[in-house]
Amino acid sequence: MYSLYKTLLGDLADVLFPASCAGCNRALVRSEEVICTNCLTRLPRFDDSQELENRLAGRLPVAAIAGYLKYETGGLTQRLLHRLKYRGQRQIGLILGTQFGAWLRQQPFWQEVEAIIPLPLHPTKEKKRGYNQSALLTQGISDATGLPVLNDVVQRLRPSASQTRKSREERWHNVAGIFAVKDTAAIAGRHVLLVDDVLTTGATLEACGQTLLEAGAEKLSLAVLAVAM
Ligand SMILES: [Zn+2]
Repeated sequence: MYSLYKTLLGDLADVLFPASCAGCNRALVRSEEVICTNCLTRLPRFDDSQELENRLAGRLPVAAIAGYLKYETGGLTQRLLHRLKYRGQRQIGLILGTQFGAWLRQQPFWQEVEAIIPLPLHPTKEKKRGYNQSALLTQGISDATGLPVLNDVVQRLRPSASQTRKSREERWHNVAGIFAVKDTAAIAGRHVLLVDDVLTTGATLEACGQTLLEAGAEKLSLAVLAVAM
């Protein structure tokens, strides 16, 4: 009887205060959480691996690079990532990370990856936001794949690098020294996968990846949830 009341009260709460989808604002039905089924099935998939390789060509020796979604101005991916980064909706990171992980698991290169590392935020920024969105994505990927996460291996020493109107060499000097590896033993001789939320120029990812390789990682692969178009 109690559970019947609970169910009825739950239904009543859903009617009075319906949770809405983070992607389209439509009211969620009971089986849905945070993102509605319709939005999940129409996530704009990125499928141009050549474009990804071109974007980082010659800058960083990577074993593989994977991108999952297209990031377009005003698009669904942008709306979801905005909620994840600026509206405190952490579950979006776990949900999208799990979806990304389920796809990654089917890619051939995945068999070789030994551990996953989220691109770190600067501590000041992480404290302000309360979490690192890339760490949530990484947790989702780990949930879907069973691979270990190395959370405190690499540290961000400087908040950001401005990249506008700089030559490639100037850009490199600008990003050099942003990251430092705290625990070299954790990555020594291993194939690590570095995870970030959005790929634009790739300068930050490049700097972090370079730092991991210099500190002794055997191989580096990259996974970005979304690729800016
Ligand atoms: Zn929706």
